[in-house]
Amino acid sequence: LPVARERVVDEMRDGVVVLDDSDRVLDLNPAARGIFGLTGERMVGRPATEVIGALAGRIGSGGEGSTLQVTLESAGEERSYEVRVSPLTDRGGHLTGRLLVLRDATERMRMEGELWHNAFYDSLTGLANRALFRDRLELAVHRAKRGGHPFAVFFLDLNRFKVINDSLGHAVGDELLVTVSRRLEACLRPSDTVARLGGDEFAVLLEEVEGVEDATRVAERMQAAISEPIRLPGHEVVTSASIGVALGPVPEGDAELLLRNADMAMYRAKESRVLHYAVFDRAMHEQAVERLRLESELRRAVERDELRLHYQPIVATETERVVCFEALLRWEHPERGLLDPPAFIRIAEETGLIVSIGEWVLREGCRRLREWQQRFPAAAPALTVNLSTRELAHPELVSAVERTLQEAPPLPGTLYLEITEDAMVESPEALERVLAHLAGLGIRFSMDDFGTGYSSLSHLHRLPVHTVKIGRSFIARMGSDAEAREIVRTLVSLARALRMEVVAEGVETEAQRAELRAFGCEYLQGYLVSGPLTVEDAEELLQGEQARVESGAASAG
Ligand code: C2E
Ligand code: CA
Ligand code: CA
Repeated sequence: LPVARERVVDEMRDGVVVLDDSDRVLDLNPAARGIFGLTGERMVGRPATEVIGALAGRIGSGGEGSTLQVTLESAGEERSYEVRVSPLTDRGGHLTGRLLVLRDATERMRMEGELWHNAFYDSLTGLANRALFRDRLELAVHRAKRGGHPFAVFFLDLNRFKVINDSLGHAVGDELLVTVSRRLEACLRPSDTVARLGGDEFAVLLEEVEGVEDATRVAERMQAAISEPIRLPGHEVVTSASIGVALGPVPEGDAELLLRNADMAMYRAKESRVLHYAVFDRAMHEQAVERLRLESELRRAVERDELRLHYQPIVATETERVVCFEALLRWEHPERGLLDPPAFIRIAEETGLIVSIGEWVLREGCRRLREWQQRFPAAAPALTVNLSTRELAHPELVSAVERTLQEAPPLPGTLYLEITEDAMVESPEALERVLAHLAGLGIRFSMDDFGTGYSSLSHLHRLPVHTVKIGRSFIARMGSDAEAREIVRTLVSLARALRMEVVAEGVETEAQRAELRAFGCEYLQGYLVSGPLTVEDAEELLQGEQARVESGAASAG
């Protein structure tokens, strides 16, 4: 049996070393010789330090019956070993020596390291990921609460990244993210944490800031670094970031809250478009609370029947006849009275509530449209309904429209949906498919606020767009700004050349009307003609129109 045992030990891939009680080598197997780079000579009886080198110094120190991690160099290569050290004793329990078993753990440790790395680092940029960032942030919160330094959390979002990524391809997008990452690192200290939270969102934890000026200075520095032109294969792109800053610690605040605050400040920065960064403050906090309340109230508004539609006439420039109404949403808030869309439409879009609200608008609008067309046949109007980009992307939109058309079919060609230019930017192919489908159902489309977004008229031509609405901002500037007037004139003539209808929005003055008429703009909408009307007022108007047409017909006949 002892012979067999010896064979096993000789064949083992683990290194085995046996030492006596004064740390001299009693025996070692071939694997151990390999590990320590020993050749033919006899090792038995030599001191451990001569044979196993530095490892000898570590086995004595509490190493009994334990496992050590060591890195050894053999054949010019560093390898990691797990060394199990077990005491050898005689029958009386006295220590007679030690048994060392060395197992090669290089591969396992490399894999563990990789797993560890993947769990905490972003694979594309090598930056910390969200989990590690959270961890560091929690640490900073704890430290600061125990009297450590205040710190700052930055939330960054690249502007226009989606456009770049979609138009130039994902490989270019990836390069852009890597470049931005390196630049961010370069303008911070090594003790600060830069993380990629996902997509084009980054976060930075700045340890030890003196005050808000410190933080805004860093925000400006990061902004400057990011907005330098970036040279990528075949392209030079310019981007910028919207940066939100939150200072910590805050009473009662945890890492989660700080990150949310920075995120909210980032949204503020996006809106400002001037500064490109914003610091979270008390007012934002109150706004956040307010927003949450509004959100839950809005959730109930549909079921509590608090939504209303007002109808703004669109008239023919020459005849002043009402040809169409734009359905404009109102919210009869139980405490705050009648609210206009700017007070709640963003929240509705961000929470996805817009989908059910939009469905209600469509149903209510169509029902009204059909009723009016039946009651005022001589003055039968068309109706145009706003559709947010979020609704357009919703898979249920087509079936919701189909249902509505079945319930209350309007006269052919009298239901318009208004879409905005950003819908075209987001995903033009998907949009084309949805619009084509809806157009097949007899729906017409208007391009809302045309000229304020990215698209061009040639783009428009590919879509089944029937009407172009020139945004209020252009009309308002027409009187004082020669360029705006020229843009309006060009838009009108181009749209007409493309056989599209043109509506000028936000017409408030006679001067604007005269100019638009001279340009050949067929339809007008705005306070000069009429603001949005309640159902009753709209019906009164239609009644008048009906009478006018009938008397016109009578006098003509
Ligand atoms: P919009 O589509 O550009 O609608 C025109 C807005 O301009 C309306 O504001 C209208 O009241 C206002 N307006 C009309 N004429 C004039 C004028 O001569 N001067 C000025 N200064 N303003 C004028 P409102 O009703 O507050 O709607 C704001 C925006 O909310 C709309 O802009 C539209 O984008 C959105 N919206 C309204 N209703 C709905 C809806 O049912 N669904 C969706 N998704 N969005 C809606
Ligand atoms: Ca509109
Ligand atoms: Ca508009």
